[in-house]
Amino acid sequence: MEDTEALRDRVLNGDLRLHELEDYTDRETAIAVRQEVIKEQTGTSVNAIDRYGFSEEEIEPNIENAIGGTEIPIGVAGAVSISGNYASGEYYLPLATTEGALVASVNRGCSVIDKAGGATTRVMQSGMTRAPVFQVESVAEAETVVNWIKTNMDQLQETAESTTSHGELLDIDPYVVGDSIYPRFIYDTKDAMGMNMATIATRKASELIEEETPARLVAISGNLCSDKKPAAINAIEGRGKTVIAEVLIPEDQVQEQLGTTSDAIEEANTRKNLVGSAKAGSLGFNAHAANVVAAMFLATGQDEAQVVEGANTITTVESRSEGLYMSVSLASLEAGTVGGGTSLPTQQEALEIIGVAGGGDPPGSNAGELAEVIATGTLAGELSLLAALASRHLSGAHEDLGR
Ligand code: NAP
Repeated sequence: MEDTEALRDRVLNGDLRLHELEDYTDRETAIAVRQEVIKEQTGTSVNAIDRYGFSEEEIEPNIENAIGGTEIPIGVAGAVSISGNYASGEYYLPLATTEGALVASVNRGCSVIDKAGGATTRVMQSGMTRAPVFQVESVAEAETVVNWIKTNMDQLQETAESTTSHGELLDIDPYVVGDSIYPRFIYDTKDAMGMNMATIATRKASELIEEETPARLVAISGNLCSDKKPAAINAIEGRGKTVIAEVLIPEDQVQEQLGTTSDAIEEANTRKNLVGSAKAGSLGFNAHAANVVAAMFLATGQDEAQVVEGANTITTVESRSEGLYMSVSLASLEAGTVGGGTSLPTQQEALEIIGVAGGGDPPGSNAGELAEVIATGTLAGELSLLAALASRHLSGAHEDLGR
């Protein structure tokens, strides 16, 4: 086996490409060689990037051209009590972020929610989607293909599900635009976020559509899925988990703990999250749902690009005679406890902190629980920020924490 220096020279001389190193040496050496090349070519010391805690084998499915790891601090908020379809009891919420004041803010929200008796949560819908695009010759042909899809659901289900032992094809929602057809496949992917699972199953079902109809597959994703892009279809129809968290906080507690009133928080929510977001043409009507979704996604090994869909959240606030009613409805939270980055060491531990690492019993229960915990964190974040705005001490909190 060639040593690090020889391999580095071969890459620098153009004999070898960075991604070919694993063909000539073990993964650990390949990482060291790439570090040497980057040092040489960019003049950057990669000492911090080299301080990673996972093994080279552990990251193999998750990264190509590896040169090490990045570190993002993790803080914890809670404990907060949650009562849901899946979540039950007290939870600590791991949040990975570099935004000072975020964990403090979510922690404050958790403390208020917990004292008020906890959050109530429900997963309203669960369905990961993939919508390929097919070409046909005419609208009449499109109608024929759509009718074939609708009348052959059993065969399509059997074909799609032959690729997975967990996934279930729930439905297909076909859209037609001129001579393009977009059948939006919807799957129950149990504890997996499910994007790979849904794509593999849809590819198999698409082959059947091509065999049995005049439709020609153009692309396995036709963007009506819609993955990792702001899209109204996800905000309206849902994608992944559609999950709601709510809390009712007695008025005296609002005033004591948050230094404001339910009326003031309701007004801030209406004028900012509802009217302001409407005027901005926003898909999400919230204060900073993406903050909590992103921090919990990073901590627990989710696909961070799907924070886009996590931001499709509506926050409601109502000043009631008993106190403050507040809810967050996350239309399209794409999260899982198996697959993707969830099995990496720190991510696995973060899932263990929540109590949802790995597959659930029954399958799907861990992902449901995770979704309800993230929704509660989002509720806490919304509550704390809106209360800070209502009592006008937002900039003070950032200054006190040195930001
Ligand atoms: P995955 O790791 O590809 O698939 C999940 C695997 O876990 C399946 O093989 C499934 O087996 C198995 N599994 C074991 N126990 C399970 C349980 N209790 N519930 C569900 N599955 C269980 O993960 P994925 O969630 O489908 O996809 C996530 C990955 O897709 C991420 O890495 C993400 O970055 C990536 N991604 C892919 C695309 C794409 O278009 N391909 C798009 C966006 C993101 P069976 O299938 O045999 O049941």
